[in-house]
Amino acid sequence: IERLESKIHAFITLTAEKALEDARRADARRIAAHRHPDETLPSLLGLPIAVKDLLTVAGVRCTCGSRILENYVPPFTATAVQRLVDAGVVIVGKTNTDEFAMGSSTENSAYGATFNPWDTGRVPGGSSGGSAAAVAARMVPAALGTDTGGSVRQPAAFCGVTGIKPTYGRVSRYGLVAYGSSLDTAGVLAHSAEDAAILFWPMAGFDPLDATTVEQPPSVWHTPESETLKGLRIGVPKEYFLPGMQPEVEEKVRAAIRMLAELGGEVHEISLPHTEYALPVYYLIAPAEASANLARYDGVRFGYRASADTLGELFNLSRSRGFGAEVKRRIMLGTYALSAGYYEAYYGQAQKVRTLIRRDFEEAFQQVDIIATPVTPTTAFRVGEHRDDPLAMYLEDVFTLPTNLAGVPGLAFPVGFDRQGLPVGMQIMASHFREDLLFSVAYHYQ
Ligand code: GLN
Repeated sequence: IERLESKIHAFITLTAEKALEDARRADARRIAAHRHPDETLPSLLGLPIAVKDLLTVAGVRCTCGSRILENYVPPFTATAVQRLVDAGVVIVGKTNTDEFAMGSSTENSAYGATFNPWDTGRVPGGSSGGSAAAVAARMVPAALGTDTGGSVRQPAAFCGVTGIKPTYGRVSRYGLVAYGSSLDTAGVLAHSAEDAAILFWPMAGFDPLDATTVEQPPSVWHTPESETLKGLRIGVPKEYFLPGMQPEVEEKVRAAIRMLAELGGEVHEISLPHTEYALPVYYLIAPAEASANLARYDGVRFGYRASADTLGELFNLSRSRGFGAEVKRRIMLGTYALSAGYYEAYYGQAQKVRTLIRRDFEEAFQQVDIIATPVTPTTAFRVGEHRDDPLAMYLEDVFTLPTNLAGVPGLAFPVGFDRQGLPVGMQIMASHFREDLLFSVAYHYQ
């Protein structure tokens, strides 16, 4: 990290001292265990990981990439993080993110952008770009991210690593700072599906602190014994191969699908007919939920407080100075979509179409076991390329948003490089709570 951080800027906060202390304690436990062979050590003891600065770690500042939380030190740890800490991990730092996870490049971070380790003139994707870059640059073997509309999978694709976005409700959102509460999930970025799975399963499961988590029979990852994917039905939706997309992305993804067929899979062309509405639906629902979730940053309860003479002025100045341009845009969009007179036309309508999108997936998963698509229409774009064009930035998410709207799990993994040597990713999706299938398919491929 010391050697590369000035070029990559993957981190907002490093916790080197505490990490060394934790690592020494882990060493001491290992040494002590030699004398007590019956003692079982936590499975991940001493494993260094990084955590996106949107998940809280008690006593470590959590900025969410925003000025408004510049000095916010949470007194509690996110459940997903706590479970890994209980399993023995050592946290080395908090990674860069677009402000409140709103973005696809990390350029919306108030602390400056992260750069793609494959080409530092390009973005690492976002919003979990710091985590993806830290893994790709071998700063850490794995990192945690969050995914509301693609923020684990898109940066995983841009940086050539593997990223899992779980089923909504599989991993607790307690301590995951809310963006779009009905879409938010916490996931893992790592070098392989196997590594991601090793961290993922301990994070998952019911949490009394998050009422949307569900009790599912514990799914334990086993290295698949069978050498093939015999009988696996792979759906390829025609709506995910757009005319304007980068030809090499389509080529590499189609080649990877052929490889899955060689491993025993059966390929079926399928249709997810409401795909084209996912983008407008997401950009109504996510900002609507964000506008409500971000109301708590009023200069009184958390973070930055402007000095002012009246309460109204205090709210106004704290929010005007504390939030960046993209966050303000989303708050305005969301407030508009929720306002009297427009609520039914925009938010209400979007919720109905969201149901149609979810049904597309439910019907597709009657016919196939997994769905394979590209993660993004292009490989990593240049720093600044979409800076003044929020709509072009929103288009980055066309292939990842439907998964969050439907609540199903998705996994991104590298399947090759384009002509410029930039990684190309493939996305596979499965029905609710079938993360095991995704890990197993990617494991076979890798
Ligand atoms: N890029 C999308 C957005 O800006 C998704 C971000 C995310 O998944 N957090 O909303």
